[in-house]
Amino acid sequence: MRPTYQVTELLGDGIGAELSRAIHELAAALPIDLQFRAVDLSLENRRARKAAIYDEAVEAVTGTGVALKYPTITAEESPNQVLRRRLDLSVIHRPVYTIPGVPTNFRRELDLDIVRIATGGTYDDPGRMIGDGGAVSLRIVERRPVTEAARYAFNLARKTSKKVTSSSKHTIQKATDGLFERVATEVAGQFPEVAHNTELFDALLGKVIMAPEKFQIVLVLNEYGDFLSDMACGLAGSLGIGASANLAFDAAAVVRVALFDAAHGTAPDIAGQNKANPTAIFLALSMLLYQVGEIELGRTVKGATLDLLREGVRTGDLGGKETTESFTAAVAAELGRRL
Ligand code: NAD
Repeated sequence: MRPTYQVTELLGDGIGAELSRAIHELAAALPIDLQFRAVDLSLENRRARKAAIYDEAVEAVTGTGVALKYPTITAEESPNQVLRRRLDLSVIHRPVYTIPGVPTNFRRELDLDIVRIATGGTYDDPGRMIGDGGAVSLRIVERRPVTEAARYAFNLARKTSKKVTSSSKHTIQKATDGLFERVATEVAGQFPEVAHNTELFDALLGKVIMAPEKFQIVLVLNEYGDFLSDMACGLAGSLGIGASANLAFDAAAVVRVALFDAAHGTAPDIAGQNKANPTAIFLALSMLLYQVGEIELGRTVKGATLDLLREGVRTGDLGGKETTESFTAAVAAELGRRL
């Protein structure tokens, strides 16, 4: 009996349709059954169905527990923000690493797991003007999402024998970042076998560039995670090939819902032209396979994709001559050889 998993597929805009076809081709090469339940979050359908389409998406993702999301146009609303709020996705895990053979301006190896609190910080409050001469916004840090993110980071460290660095500006932002560091230290106490240190965030940015090998799992508040992710992706030369897990937890700190997506957008300039690089969505699928417990398969999908890139089998954005379809066919064939 082939193991069967239900997966919600959140369809989007632009290159989303090509990426979805690529995912179905890879899924067909796996020795398991991924049963996709599609929900159409394209701008056209969001405008036509309004709140009802999000109700459908939330119901589907809650039911299947795991979802793959394709890029969506941010217009009247950001579907990512709506889903984050509605599904209580409080933590984002973004692995960022240099891929041998993929060109980068940075001549060092980098392998970071960024664990970011997905809510609060300065991002939940757009702020307000005080007359014409000033402006103010709130910065919010809550114990619950910090605890969830810290537990996730330390569990990941335990499983992978890595160390955790928590990073903030607690010397200046004494209340908010102070609470964050206190919670991180409390959680660290529950994982005595995991090494933990703290770095001030400005120092961390410099050190990641100068000595990337010193950092493995980095736990950060919302906006710091946003800045660090893009800097790390830039260093790794892979702004277009990063993937993330967006996670919601139950009261026992177990992942309740996990939504996986690519970091890039809808790429309107190349949509429908068979030019999209499906690497990021393949890496998102690999993370999804880990999440459902198919660790070996997740590793194989990632390994096959990265090995082909290393061998020079690449789409145009990475200087190669493959199309979306030919790259996908190459990864599917490689999976066939390995599985
Ligand atoms: P983008 O990531 O779509 O495109 C930036 C550049 O990178 C373009 O030249 C594009 O062709 C290229 N690119 C991106 N992904 C690629 C891929 N897989 N293969 C090859 N090339 C790729 O960013 P943008 O142009 O700023 O945004 C376009 C739309 O996407 C906007 O509406 C934005 O709101 C949305 N967006 C959505 C998400 C998401 O849903 N997660 C994330 C970012 C942007």
